[in-house]
Amino acid sequence: MSSTADPITHGCAQCGKQATLKCKGCMNTPDGKTIDGVIVIRYCGIECQKSNWSTHQPVCKTAQLRKKIYRAGSLAREACLTFNRITYSCPVDRIEKLGNTWKIYAPEDYKDQCQLMPFPPDCVTSPEEENALLSFGHCTAALCYQHHLFKDLLRSYCSAIEETSFKVKNRSLRLLFVFADGFVDHTDYYHTILKVTVKNGEQYALDVAGAQNGWHESVVPWEIYANTRVQCTAWTLQFGQTQDQLHAKLFWDGDLHSYCDQVLVKFAKKLRSAADDFQKRQVAFKALLNLPEGEYEAKCAVLIDGICHALEAFKVYGEKRGLFQIKVAKNKGRGTNDPKPKSASTMRGEKTPDVGMIFGAQAIRLPS
Ligand SMILES: [Zn+2]
Ligand SMILES: [Zn+2]
Repeated sequence: MSSTADPITHGCAQCGKQATLKCKGCMNTPDGKTIDGVIVIRYCGIECQKSNWSTHQPVCKTAQLRKKIYRAGSLAREACLTFNRITYSCPVDRIEKLGNTWKIYAPEDYKDQCQLMPFPPDCVTSPEEENALLSFGHCTAALCYQHHLFKDLLRSYCSAIEETSFKVKNRSLRLLFVFADGFVDHTDYYHTILKVTVKNGEQYALDVAGAQNGWHESVVPWEIYANTRVQCTAWTLQFGQTQDQLHAKLFWDGDLHSYCDQVLVKFAKKLRSAADDFQKRQVAFKALLNLPEGEYEAKCAVLIDGICHALEAFKVYGEKRGLFQIKVAKNKGRGTNDPKPKSASTMRGEKTPDVGMIFGAQAIRLPS
């Protein structure tokens, strides 16, 4: 928590005297105005708290609603990272870290292929670095494979949700994929996030794959996010449209990436049933986000554990039965005359330009 940003009241909110009693309703809720500032409202005693309640009540309710969105964002991000770790498919031989730029080298024998592999733990030295690598090229993928999770987590507390893609500015980390032949993909891919309007009227950016740009907050007040990270918006879609487009594509596109998509769609189904199962047996997401701190954290751990277990079990099952053996029907690998090479994120389903008929502007730059 930043100490400069915290609008903590040290005196009683009613009379200004020294105060130790805190409003439990909104204690430590994000302030909604800074990246990591929180609110703490204090009172000198019950009397002052009571007299202040009519003034404080609307503020307190707004803050409580805000906290649910922050919880939803951080939980969604954790689920996405778990999914990406288990379905990891970016071929990494080694990573060269030059300041804020990482060059991710493909293995020498890498040919445009798509297969599940273990996450390379030796390539990273901190949880932030791990998240950066896990979220590389995964912002749009999250909207495809984790849509139902986002929906279940957000729908009770949001009045509007949009999928928005934009050109990035001020990234503090730049991940570049280097192909086996030495070609470095410098494409400035658009980044995709959710723009959510909470029922209290506030707007937030929900960014589950921002770690690849060095951004580690899953929820940021929209105005701050837009001013500091968005260079220009490329397009905005309705919530769920990215997933619908992927599903439409799977019916007719027969190239390498749709095979990858098909494998990931299977995992996405397992993720969804694990989440549904949790809601049935443990607690619905709406109530989950409302739980007291300790209980909330314990339940989140159960959920992530359940997701992890379901995906791992499916991976073992699928590998035994050859479900993930991807045969490339039509390898559209990077040709020598091709001015637009595939990126590392193509492993997650790049749209070839002709897909533009259906996918609009997304066709060329679907991955982040
Ligand atoms: Zn007082
Ligand atoms: Zn309060």
